[in-house]
Amino acid sequence: MATIRFRAIQETFGRTPVPVQETVRRSELFGENVFNESAMRQFMTKEAFVSVMNAIEFGEKINRKIANQVAAGMRDWAISKGASHYTHWFQPLTGATAEKHDAFFETIGNGMAMEKFDGSQLVQQEPDASSFPNGGIRNTFEARGYTAWDPTSPAFIYGGTLCIPTVFVSYTGEALDNKAPLLRALQAVDNAATDVAKYFDKNVTKVTATLGWEQEYFLVDKALAYSRPDLILAGRMLLGHSAAKGQQLDDHYFGSIPDRVVNFMRDLEIECMKLGIPVKTRHNEVAPNQFELAPIFEEASMAVDHNSLLMDVMDKTADRHNYKVLFHEKPFSGINGSGKHNNWSLATNTGVNLLSPGSTPMKNLQFLTFFINTIKAVNEYEELIRASIASATNDHRLGANEAPPAIISVFIGEQLTRVLDELEDVSTGKLSPQEKTDLKLNVVGKIPEILLDNTDRNRTSPFAFTGNKFELRAVGSKANCGKPMTVLNTIVAKQLVEFKKEVDALVSKKKLKKDEAIFNVLREYIKSSRRIRFEGDGYSAAWEKEAARRGLSNNKTTPSALKSMVSKKAISLYEEMKVMSKIEVKARHEIELEEYTMKVQIEGRVLGDIARNHVIPTAIRYQNILIDNVKGLKDVFGTDFKKVASEQLDLIEEISEHIAEINSKVTAMTEERKKANVITSAELKAEAYCEKVKPYFDDIRYHCDKLELLVDDELWTLTKYRELLFLK
Ligand code: ADP
Ligand code: MG
Repeated sequence: MATIRFRAIQETFGRTPVPVQETVRRSELFGENVFNESAMRQFMTKEAFVSVMNAIEFGEKINRKIANQVAAGMRDWAISKGASHYTHWFQPLTGATAEKHDAFFETIGNGMAMEKFDGSQLVQQEPDASSFPNGGIRNTFEARGYTAWDPTSPAFIYGGTLCIPTVFVSYTGEALDNKAPLLRALQAVDNAATDVAKYFDKNVTKVTATLGWEQEYFLVDKALAYSRPDLILAGRMLLGHSAAKGQQLDDHYFGSIPDRVVNFMRDLEIECMKLGIPVKTRHNEVAPNQFELAPIFEEASMAVDHNSLLMDVMDKTADRHNYKVLFHEKPFSGINGSGKHNNWSLATNTGVNLLSPGSTPMKNLQFLTFFINTIKAVNEYEELIRASIASATNDHRLGANEAPPAIISVFIGEQLTRVLDELEDVSTGKLSPQEKTDLKLNVVGKIPEILLDNTDRNRTSPFAFTGNKFELRAVGSKANCGKPMTVLNTIVAKQLVEFKKEVDALVSKKKLKKDEAIFNVLREYIKSSRRIRFEGDGYSAAWEKEAARRGLSNNKTTPSALKSMVSKKAISLYEEMKVMSKIEVKARHEIELEEYTMKVQIEGRVLGDIARNHVIPTAIRYQNILIDNVKGLKDVFGTDFKKVASEQLDLIEEISEHIAEINSKVTAMTEERKKANVITSAELKAEAYCEKVKPYFDDIRYHCDKLELLVDDELWTLTKYRELLFLK
């Protein structure tokens, strides 16, 4: 008997919803465990408060004396909330979050102790950096890494620990995390967008990027999940025949959320409220046991922090509810995978969403300026966007049937397409009074303030304009949003800098009026970025052909997608925008390749192990039962036995064939792994894993899944798709 599987099933049958107490209104809970403005006012000196606010708003430095005051306030607040430890919380390049807890408690001699936490502990720490990936940076420079307090992101208490958001950098100043480059990219887009926004409103002094992510995930029962070594070690089912029923009836999407899940969600939302994560919507997704959660959008760096924190909170909350949450982009082949839509826009300090059409022609020209510049930026750097969402796990989703393809394109909807078509016909140079009036009244003036209903129709586009924001839909569910947000904000910053140069040149050299110059530059941008716009079915084979004709990239695997990260064009972009140095870019590239290799390597090992140690022995056991049965029939029926044993004889043979295939393929895969392992170049190694090792996975899986269909269900050791997806 397959004990672990059946014990897990039995455990799942006995589950009841874990009760959740909700006594306080959510609006009251919101931010309870965050060292936010009101907590700062209460626990900090006036001097310290002003200093922190200036650091947040204007990037001003905080001196040592003030840091001590801030630390004291933070400590008192944290202790008043029952915290006993503190940690520098950061987002290393492994994709997860990292923390090392230290107690406030310190002995002070004579058998006495006190709670201590001062400015130096707040400002800088040295985690054991050698255990985080650094892409050779530290080896080259023999420098250590340290975490540095990021005052723009508020401290919070989580699990009895005061968490201080930090950036993680090497002693020579290179970023070793996802946060530092993001902050630099946000600075770049602030500078560039503010300059352009001033064309329209002199009062604009700051532009912030906004991000609203939508997080998809699967929930499976904890006992069932832990019975599958592949789910635990690789995050996805490396084998397993699909269930007879999948998502074809759409009954999950439209169904009500099961009670056990609702309680998990409520518990999670309460946690999020306390941590100041403004979660708002929850619903079922397309696949069975798949769900989505989305917050109200926030300033981008805050939103990135919150998404990273959320994934951690989800893990822990799920555990309390006897679930395992799966963030993998494709845990179950044959049904939908999970993504993380990144809704992105730009907002001014005067409260204007720069990607929202307005009520006057001038506001609409501002909208068109940012809208068209974004399209142009994506056109110029589509490969970098693709690289920013590349990972071994997301490869299973990009290009698969339900997901955005590996081709980046922009969808804007019929109405805006018409507007851009008309703008293409604007005259070169000065505009006649007649043309100006016509543009104001009939083109720019006709953009309705509310586009929302008209723009969200195409769900197959990886980068869609949805009324007042762009939505990057190709981000992986497991990914740190920091990566794509760094790229998007950097390329838009660069584009806006170019735009301003061109407009200013037309004004000073050609003596055009500002709006004439803007129309002239936008006209050229529309023409030169036409290839990136695609309104049709992004999942169709015809689009792949068309995209190739247009010269758009279609990098289907991570090793090929990552190449563009280190192109001359990319490096000069990052350097010019002061987002990353060449060393940092190269280090990141290497880290990503190494991560890819390791992920595929782990999958290969786990698959080989399961195939040899679970599938083959189980198949042989069943085959032996069949052989005994045939022998018995021979005893009973004598020479005539073949007639009554024909099914068994066929099965015995078929099982042997599959076993032989699995054996030879696992051996061949292991050989390829060995060859790949001795390659020293990170790039060639990743390619070897991608092209030589990975192709065996499907082959091996095919034969294992055939055996799953043949072997007696009672003997099968591995928990099946139908159990993981339909037991609630
Ligand atoms: P859906 O895509 O599910 O139809 P919405 O379009 O209403 O839902 O919003 C999706 C996400 O977009 C939400 O997380 C929301 O917070 C976010 N969002 C809305 N406006 C903006 C904005 N200006 N900037 C960034 N994100 C935004
Ligand atoms: Mg959406």
